[in-house]
Amino acid sequence: MPAPRLVGGPRPHLLVAGRTHLLEIRRSARSARLRLRIDPKRGIVLNLPPRVSLKAGLAFVERELDWIVAHLDRLPAPVPFRDGAVLPLLGVPHRITHAPDRRGFVWREAGEILVAGGAEHLPRRVRDWTRKVAKEEISHRAEKYAARIGTSYSGITLRDPASRWGSCSSTGRLNFSWRLLLMPEEVMDYIVAHEVAHLRHMDHSAAFWALVDEMHPGVPAARKWLRINGADLHKYGVEPEDRL
Ligand SMILES: [Zn+2]
Repeated sequence: MPAPRLVGGPRPHLLVAGRTHLLEIRRSARSARLRLRIDPKRGIVLNLPPRVSLKAGLAFVERELDWIVAHLDRLPAPVPFRDGAVLPLLGVPHRITHAPDRRGFVWREAGEILVAGGAEHLPRRVRDWTRKVAKEEISHRAEKYAARIGTSYSGITLRDPASRWGSCSSTGRLNFSWRLLLMPEEVMDYIVAHEVAHLRHMDHSAAFWALVDEMHPGVPAARKWLRINGADLHKYGVEPEDRL
């Protein structure tokens, strides 16, 4: 097997064991140093600080080839939305089952996610459905926590960020990853409580953590679960070609 190598040019990529992995290069005013990460969806991402040249960035990638190859190996295999795939809804395994003869769109029934209609529509239908259910689950928790501490937020946005589960803007908007839907309830509760607590304290001060503890018991257990299992959640709903 030829050694892994970096191929430069207009679309820099890595050749590893006969496979092409595109290198996504991001200029970020916020990053203070060169940083490489392996993202389950985007692949290999290189963050370039403002004053570092592309050439220096590629030389850095060259030096880190062994690290990259080791991490590519450890990425969990993608679990695209297909008939037979299993999704942990609120931490409980649910099998996606294509039901072409049934009426309706997508619904949950006895440990399964049933999907009507043509097979070609199944991935998109499951995708839309998971976003909708995630929004419902997150919204009712956010309302409950906000009421409990006597505050309010201006809205909830669902996204699919690579490295954070939630955030709170200075205008009082809450952002969450739809993947919270794939976590056990107590972990989802913790993340929602955490972001709602930021409506009171826009920092991670002792006062902030005291408030989170008051709102949600079991913060250490939830954080531990995320450390161990969080990255794995990024394999769901990923089409194999997305990673190329
Ligand atoms: Zn925070």
